[in-house]
Amino acid sequence: MSTPMQSAALPEGSRVPDGLDDVAAALADRLPEHLDALVELASIPSISLAGNDPAHVRRSAEATADLLRGAGLEDVRLLEVDDAHPYVTGSLCHAGEAAPTLLLYAHHDVQPVGTPDRWSSPPFEPTVRDGRLYGRGCSDDKAGVIAHVAAIRAWVDARGEPPVNVKVVIEGEEEIGSPHLPVFLERYGPMLDADVIVIADVGNFKTGWPGLTWSLRGLMDATVTVRCMAQPVHSGMWGGLVPDALTATARLLATLHDDRGDVAVDGFAAGARELTPEERARVEALPPDPDGLRTEARTVEGLHWLGDPDDSPLERIWFTPTITPTGMSVPDLAHASNTLLNEVSTKLSCRMVPGQDPARAFAALRRHLEEHVPWGLEVEVSPGETAPAWVTDPSSAAHEAAAAAFEAGYGHDVAWMGCGGSIPLVGPFAESFGGAAALLIGVEDPASNAHGEDESQDLGDLARTALSEAYLFAELADRAEAVRARGA
Ligand SMILES: [Zn+2]
Repeated sequence: MSTPMQSAALPEGSRVPDGLDDVAAALADRLPEHLDALVELASIPSISLAGNDPAHVRRSAEATADLLRGAGLEDVRLLEVDDAHPYVTGSLCHAGEAAPTLLLYAHHDVQPVGTPDRWSSPPFEPTVRDGRLYGRGCSDDKAGVIAHVAAIRAWVDARGEPPVNVKVVIEGEEEIGSPHLPVFLERYGPMLDADVIVIADVGNFKTGWPGLTWSLRGLMDATVTVRCMAQPVHSGMWGGLVPDALTATARLLATLHDDRGDVAVDGFAAGARELTPEERARVEALPPDPDGLRTEARTVEGLHWLGDPDDSPLERIWFTPTITPTGMSVPDLAHASNTLLNEVSTKLSCRMVPGQDPARAFAALRRHLEEHVPWGLEVEVSPGETAPAWVTDPSSAAHEAAAAAFEAGYGHDVAWMGCGGSIPLVGPFAESFGGAAALLIGVEDPASNAHGEDESQDLGDLARTALSEAYLFAELADRAEAVRARGA
């Protein structure tokens, strides 16, 4: 495959810290090979959502295991939990007891493709255009898998092994909310124990501007079903007298937000806390760049942001509770007959903020939907996946190490970012490892359009993240004592 990364040159902008020339050169040498591996991995349609063939997810787990073996990891195997898509693990722990132990995380499952015609090239035929690799999973999160593989392999090539103990876990059910996480953690948590968790599954602030993420919104899914009859009936014979489930659903959904688009469900945000002055200062240190956000989201002209016009757009994206309908059981246009629909189900995807309790938020949402359904129709609300928000104080020795590594790898200072998305595993893992620091590093950039059509990965940023991660191992080894004092 022809790419901009064929020479053994370092990625544009990056610097080499003292004493790491051999590691940097080893990483650069293999970049074309890592890109080929990403193309191959992203060709596997490992969609974890129910209704898609689970054999593909297993195949991508096996391909991931091969990549880990190829990077020099030992004890590589699939970790199984009943009814869960397989996780993949491996380790390389010869740096000694005084060295920190890292757990590197990414996931190999992907989102469904969305609307096939909106892809410029087929979603599972990864294609390079203008320095970006397009395809489902090319960024979220198979690029994360590759970043870990590249960083480990660079150390193995240059020095035989990394200066830290490395464990890897690549999840197979992240995109469906990690439903088996508690069982997984109980069974395999102890063998994955680490001082630092490195999560390569979030975004950079801008292309070429590395982000270190200190907050994640949580999530809460619900399905609401509105029912008015046992079966659809003729709209000519009954319309005007009998309500239909789609109009009723539209009216019901319209009650979930006020005119500015803020959630208007009593008790939904109970417990949500204000940002601390330090947190707010961190957000305000970044340029809000609303025009840039419009370009990145590709909004139509004239579109108004939701909420108070004086709100910080970044605070809205990272720290505002949301309720969003994301799917509905209605006939598509080709099958729309002249009938009153008797039953409509809508999936609601909600994002949770720090302090908000997903179970309480679900109860408030259910109460609201039951109280507001029009015309005496039946309404049923069932719960889905949940995960609370996660926030950390990014002042640990591990964070200091990460800032130094990414500044060198990108040749740019780091942005201390929030993230509006959710990674359910971060909080429970960090907690079960006794306050291990969690470093959330970026492979995606705002143009990646993860979860959407034409998902893509900037290949320069992938190379810079892999290089920064290789540097991170050295920075953490240099701070071994402070890093090993977890939670201190
Ligand atoms: Zn992801």
